[in-house]
Amino acid sequence: DQMLAFVALSVETLAARLGALDALRERIGQDPGKWTVAEVGDGNLNLVFIVKGDIGSVIVKQALPYVRLVGESWPLPLKRSFFEYHALMRQGARDPGMTPEIFHFDQAQAIIVMEFLTPHVILRRALIDGRELPRVGRDLGLFVARTLFRGSDLSMVTREKKADLALFSDNVALCDITEALVFSDPYFEAPLNRHTSPQLDDLVAELRRDRDLKVEAQRLKHLFSANAETLCHGDLHTGSVMVTDAETKVIDPEFAFYGPIAFDVGMLIANFWMSYFSQSGHEERGERHSMRAYLLHTATEIWDVFATEFGHLWRTERKGILYQASLFEAQGDALGAEQALDRILDDIWNDMLGFAGVEIHRRILGLAHNADFETIADHDMRACCEAKALKFGRHLAVNRSRIRSMAEISALAERLE
Ligand code: ADP
Ligand code: MG
Ligand code: MG
Ligand code: MG
Repeated sequence: DQMLAFVALSVETLAARLGALDALRERIGQDPGKWTVAEVGDGNLNLVFIVKGDIGSVIVKQALPYVRLVGESWPLPLKRSFFEYHALMRQGARDPGMTPEIFHFDQAQAIIVMEFLTPHVILRRALIDGRELPRVGRDLGLFVARTLFRGSDLSMVTREKKADLALFSDNVALCDITEALVFSDPYFEAPLNRHTSPQLDDLVAELRRDRDLKVEAQRLKHLFSANAETLCHGDLHTGSVMVTDAETKVIDPEFAFYGPIAFDVGMLIANFWMSYFSQSGHEERGERHSMRAYLLHTATEIWDVFATEFGHLWRTERKGILYQASLFEAQGDALGAEQALDRILDDIWNDMLGFAGVEIHRRILGLAHNADFETIADHDMRACCEAKALKFGRHLAVNRSRIRSMAEISALAERLE
């Protein structure tokens, strides 16, 4: 009931509270008394339950009015669940099959009921375990191209785009988190920061004195906050992807906002590069030569598939506000449209590298670290992996306008490793 005040779900109360909903009964089982409920959330922000019955199972995700990781002292609006729901609906329409099916949404209770992805696992875990997933590069390259092109002025008419921009414009609290935690905090001694210490102390101090790096981080922050090009996922790392060998699904778009096309692409690819630099820390659980090659190959594949699909959509679906066919193809000037496409892809490439660089930094210097490095128990080994990634990220952020190809980047990664 949309009118009731928010109450957090629990394992004990879930079946009683949601048991009257047909959308759930027909997927789980007609008798809620026989449902079993388990809390599985491993995220930083929300409650996630698996609900099982004699017919099937679903996931129930509920936002809390504060950051779960920190507690009630850090409030966070429940409305992020509304943005997550609307982003999931759009992504599901723009790249069908790549998001979980949605069965029910309750805005007041901040609850989304969705398909239970099984036997899927979180991509980040699979990469730590040394699994070479054959499909993720292609699936994720297509996902970013399709969602980011189809959510932009290249695809949408002005009324539709501006209405959508207005709908998502209130997701300020989550944008504010990214603005602080990704683009600023890593570059000074912010209270929430931490890093592997004392091993990284000297390198961290050097990065925080690095004027060129800080100028780039602020240019990227400006793009993030002011360049409302498309509906971004907003939190597209390998912890927001669930996989089997045959299937790739993207979850958790509660940070959705209108921002630069390059943002999701750079965040995503950065997480493959971080996995690359973390592999030597996991090497006692198997040789990782082939895994390292796989990760560089997959980063390259994501970019190549993204650029190719973006070009394909440019040629076949450019029906929005920008670069109208009446200015180009309709006048026999297909070359003009190709030239404009090249310019746009050049800019995305350049900015993507910058976003990747700062994403790598914030995962090692900021508040939210990632399991790729955190699960390396030997701190000297962890710091060694992290130091390589930090230098790599600095190179991407500062030299991005001079970097020409993924081959060049892979060669740099191999040299550092
Ligand atoms: P948070 O926003 O708190 O990070 P997530 O949406 O990332 O929450 O979900 C947390 C965890 O719950 C995921 O890492 C995954 O293990 C599990 N999970 C979430 N959604 C699903 C789903 N649709 N199917 C299976 N597991 C899921
Ligand atoms: Mg998550
Ligand atoms: Mg989340
Ligand atoms: Mg295609």
